[in-house]
Amino acid sequence: MSNASDPRTPAPTSAELFERALKVIPSGVNSPVRAFGSVGGNPPFIVSASGALLRDADGREYVDMVGSWGPMILGHANPSVVEAVREAAGKGLSFGAPQPGEVLLAEELTSRVRPLEQIRLVNSGTEATMSALRLARAATGRDVVVKFAGCYHGHVDALLAEAGSGVATFALPGSAGVTAATAKDTVVLPYGDREALTELFSQRGGEIAAIITEAAPANMGVVPPPVQDGTGFNRFLADTAHAAGALLISDEVLSGFRAGAEGQYGIDGEGWEPDLMTFGKVIGGGLPVGAFGGRAELMRLLAPAGPVYQAGTLSGNPLATAAGLATLAGLDDAAYETISRASLAVQEAVASALADAGVPHVVQSTGTLFSVFFRDQPVHTYEDAKDQNTEAFTRFFHSLLEQGVHLPPSAFEAWFLSTAHTDQVLDRLFEALPAAAKAAAQ
Ligand code: PLP
Repeated sequence: MSNASDPRTPAPTSAELFERALKVIPSGVNSPVRAFGSVGGNPPFIVSASGALLRDADGREYVDMVGSWGPMILGHANPSVVEAVREAAGKGLSFGAPQPGEVLLAEELTSRVRPLEQIRLVNSGTEATMSALRLARAATGRDVVVKFAGCYHGHVDALLAEAGSGVATFALPGSAGVTAATAKDTVVLPYGDREALTELFSQRGGEIAAIITEAAPANMGVVPPPVQDGTGFNRFLADTAHAAGALLISDEVLSGFRAGAEGQYGIDGEGWEPDLMTFGKVIGGGLPVGAFGGRAELMRLLAPAGPVYQAGTLSGNPLATAAGLATLAGLDDAAYETISRASLAVQEAVASALADAGVPHVVQSTGTLFSVFFRDQPVHTYEDAKDQNTEAFTRFFHSLLEQGVHLPPSAFEAWFLSTAHTDQVLDRLFEALPAAAKAAAQ
């Protein structure tokens, strides 16, 4: 019999919890990166969090640079978000019927992001990209989707694909369990490669339903969309897709409401539009939410009015919409100003500590979104990103963890800040940086 509720039993430590987890949860985690696979060691189990701080099962405190991989942009346990969720919970956890929060969140998102006329809420970023893909295929009557190496769009079968042997050839499964037939309808190109895209469209344009891209790649580290001859890469993608009757799906699950108030789209400049956009993370404020949206004419193809089936028992959940609305309400100009200042301060401090220790590095950013690569040349593609000193990152990571700063446990991830990363909190990071940079240099 479990004695977990006996107050005389000491709370389990992180090590004990991980040992138990390994028996009943594959690799002890419910999402792979949490297992510390690429940096080694065991992950601390977090029992509470407040503002920019995490507390683990061993009573240790960390400055959190992960922010639950993006959603916690107002910091953990933000009082207004918690209160909104508490109030919603008191009125019922799920109705399986329309509820006012869905309308409010849809109105909020469509008013904040120009290309959005209608949105549908789902429960994760993965669901958002999966549904957007289905909608794009239905709208165009075509099968092929183009994605870029190093861009992550969740664990959708068709998007877990790796480049085939030639530029215009179909992709190979990117995970066991993804069938060759599924991968066959995906083409994977190097990020930013306009020539490869043009060549592909000249050969197979009539088969292509959509290009999907991270609006600002951040899952291979942050790679700002390159501007060439005055034209940003996202706009180039939209123009290329539209000229061939295909759609552009801009994935803002990570960058949305984080790179800036209007995500990467707000940074890219006016005069063009993606056809569909996907969101997640920030718009749920820490509860499971995703969304996809675009022009009403496309979105009307969804069931029940249209032929594209898409559904969800918990979609538009009242707690999730309450958390999302409270989070968006806190994201005013002052909030972005605070995050932007913190982001610049961290970028400068990390670059200067690594430079002082003689560690090759490049800091890349778009808006307030940034990451650090352990190499001395800029990163434009996934091939570039893979060519970095991950061992140096691992030493840097563990030194910071030791000193009470929790970075994302991989050299390929963005660092996430919040309005709660005050100067006082950041001082803890700044004090820890010289020793971490020295460790990285060894
Ligand atoms: N798209 C992007 C750009 C992401 O960064 C992620 C997750 O990190 C996803 C989609 C998938 O979202 P989720 O993990 O909520 O399924």
